[in-house]
Amino acid sequence: MPSTTKNPLKLFNLVESAAVEAAVRRAQTGQSIRIGPDPALHRDKGTEHRWVEAVLRHRLSLRSLNRPIAIRATDDGVHPLIEDGQHFPAVALSVPFAEGTLDFLATYDGRSRLVFDLLIPCDRCQQPVPTEEINSLEDLGDFLLQTRDALGGSPRLRTSPAHSTGCPALGD
Ligand SMILES: [Zn+2]
Repeated sequence: MPSTTKNPLKLFNLVESAAVEAAVRRAQTGQSIRIGPDPALHRDKGTEHRWVEAVLRHRLSLRSLNRPIAIRATDDGVHPLIEDGQHFPAVALSVPFAEGTLDFLATYDGRSRLVFDLLIPCDRCQQPVPTEEINSLEDLGDFLLQTRDALGGSPRLRTSPAHSTGCPALGD
């Protein structure tokens, strides 16, 4: 059977299915899911990870799926929280499913906005690097549909310290 007749999408979980649905809807109608402002930052000590997790949950509209979705948030051992920062680690988030895991990295961009990147093995060195900035369910759907030109790639892909030394994807 010619490969063109195969479904190019291998969706492995309900979040991905919902993401593709949302992306198609946005492409057809120009309308995104209205999610409103991010949850407020709790000032209590030790709750930062829970807050970052809540923001990801909110941006991806996970509550609308009406299913419990687990997210694990930990310090990322490689990336800084702030571009060129040294003291605070970024937050690594994984959303586990029976069939695989979606991995995100939370950092602050140059405008002090908390942003999420999907961590994907680098084309060149196979290390998991921030590949696409995903701040909505529609963004995730666009990524899965491979309309990546519309998204443009993560600005952190070329600078990620997670690449192997000398990886050609770094810099330039
Ligand atoms: Zn690389």
